Amino acid sequence: MKKYQNFINGKWCDAKSGKTFENRNPANWSEIVGIFPKSGKEDVEEAIKAARTAFEKWRLVPAPKRGDILKTVGDIMSARKEEIAKLMTREMGKVLTETKGDVQEGIDTAYYAASEGRRLFGHTVPSELPNKFNMAMRVPIGVAGIITPWNFPMAIPTWKIFPALLCGNTVVFKPASDTPATATVLVEILAEAGVPEGVINIVHGGGGEVGNAIVGHQEVDLVSFTGSTEIGIKISEMGSKTLKRVSLELGGKNAQIVMDDADLNLALDGVLWGAFGTTGQRCTATSRLILHEKVFDKFMSILVDRTKKLRLGDGLLPTTDVGPCVNEGQRQTDHSYVEIGLKEGAKLACGGDIGKGGDLDKGWFYQPTIFTEVTPNMRIAKEEIFGPVLSVIRIKSLEEAINVLNDTIYGLSSSIYTKNVNDAFRAIRDIKAGITYINAPTIGAEAHMPFGGVKQTGNGHCEGGWTVYEFFSEWKTIYIDYSGGLQRAQIDT
Ligand code: NAD
Repeated sequence: MKKYQNFINGKWCDAKSGKTFENRNPANWSEIVGIFPKSGKEDVEEAIKAARTAFEKWRLVPAPKRGDILKTVGDIMSARKEEIAKLMTREMGKVLTETKGDVQEGIDTAYYAASEGRRLFGHTVPSELPNKFNMAMRVPIGVAGIITPWNFPMAIPTWKIFPALLCGNTVVFKPASDTPATATVLVEILAEAGVPEGVINIVHGGGGEVGNAIVGHQEVDLVSFTGSTEIGIKISEMGSKTLKRVSLELGGKNAQIVMDDADLNLALDGVLWGAFGTTGQRCTATSRLILHEKVFDKFMSILVDRTKKLRLGDGLLPTTDVGPCVNEGQRQTDHSYVEIGLKEGAKLACGGDIGKGGDLDKGWFYQPTIFTEVTPNMRIAKEEIFGPVLSVIRIKSLEEAINVLNDTIYGLSSSIYTKNVNDAFRAIRDIKAGITYINAPTIGAEAHMPFGGVKQTGNGHCEGGWTVYEFFSEWKTIYIDYSGGLQRAQIDT
């Protein structure tokens, strides 16, 4: 069994306390994937100190050179893609095709960051005074605290760490304790590619100890967090005490609208992938289907039929469509929402229980579940479940569909299936969400596009694409006066 370590100031090390925790396979709970350091405040302190010291050199490395290192990171990740994907499936359960996609997103992000090293554009702007030159340029900020969830163990850390490094910041990284192995491989690759000591540090452990210590620390200048809205609010409060820059990517309650003129086969493929891909454990997962009454019965009968045929199992097996929940707690949450839905008066069309029998008894499986007769005010229509549970709401018009879609505290992803171009554009205009897909499911973000939500899904920052570089750098404004005399702005006009 492999024993993993923290990486601090260019050296692999145990937690100072010597404590450890186990990481287990959710498809086969008896299998231990690895043993990890259960770190505390003192380990975080050392990592922040290393990152602070390393910042003074790293900020002076030209951005194209930083980009070259990230290009090498992408190359190594490509060579190790299959192996990393298998490890990821073992530690968090999603099927191998999806974990390969997760690694690919990291590779795409590496190459995008490498190219950004030769861009990172600033502005030159005319001065209001003669013989004076004005410009604004991007500068590094300092030490970035990176805290990530378990559902995209490679992609999400790379969305944050690569732009942070490219912009000249140093990093203290705390991955989710359900997926520490993939995170460690990422750090190994960064070190191998030539990221200098102290520039990337990983500290394993719980949110309460390691996460809190990072967010509360005076010497951490910015925090990028992806996780639940509940923890995001705490991080925002804690970060405000030292006026940190904080980026929050939080929960979702995403919906797919299917209008009566939609290509129903396409919409069926979309909702099956959106609701049950990654076992429903994506922040962009389709948690609600908003279905036009004119196609309701026909659509539902095929959807339920196809959902019942989805095969639960170990994500490493090619026969598996849906892997396990990440852990026992998540499976309990899924089941508790099924009980809530039944109490609220919704009807189970399929699923509604844990996956049982044979090898399923070894892990945390839950049957793909569909509720009908869901009304917009029910908790299963409003709250994030983060499992393979779909709530179907019947609507009569586009206006009603959009109102229902918008009726949650979240605003991450959304989708509409229609052949009517006017309805599609009205949906784009009126849906309150950071992402809207037309004739495609709610999942499927591309690395070079902005990614983020509105309302309580976030706090206004976007990851992905060019937008994340705004977060990881700050503006410096420069005035160069070559007149040889004192020129007073607003006065010497
Ligand atoms: P979580 O909020 O429980 O944990 C996220 C991370 O925060 C983990 O590393 C955890 O250890 C750490 N943490 C926990 N308590 C902390 C504290 N007090 N201080 C600092 N760090 C702390 O979320 P999760 O269960 O890992 O992930 C699922 C959630 O993430 C869902 O709500 C999902 O919607 C959200 N998510 C959002 C996006 C997005 O981009 N919007 C993407 C993926 C997941």
